[in-house]
Amino acid sequence: MPIYDYRCENCGRFEKVQKITESALDTCPTCGGACERLIGKNVGVVFKGSGFYRNDKNFKDQVRSYNKERQVDNQAILDGDIKGFVEQSEATTKKIMES
Ligand SMILES: [Zn+2]
Repeated sequence: MPIYDYRCENCGRFEKVQKITESALDTCPTCGGACERLIGKNVGVVFKGSGFYRNDKNFKDQVRSYNKERQVDNQAILDGDIKGFVEQSEATTKKIMES
């Protein structure tokens, strides 16, 4: 599952592992204060755990094609389309998780 960065007005930054189907937190799980999800380097897939160390060619090709989609994500963020970036990023992540 992806790790999201949050910033709490009281506690500062924290990370939360969430399903991509879960909506963003708006209250801090620690203090109950307001928090917001940050758009950062951790948005997207975290290649941890089993299943991501496969070495077969098909898998690499698959990852390569996902990386192309990531470039579309990056273009969106360059255009300042943050919402589009998040939506596209989550859609891509979902595809990878389902594959
Ligand atoms: Zn807090």
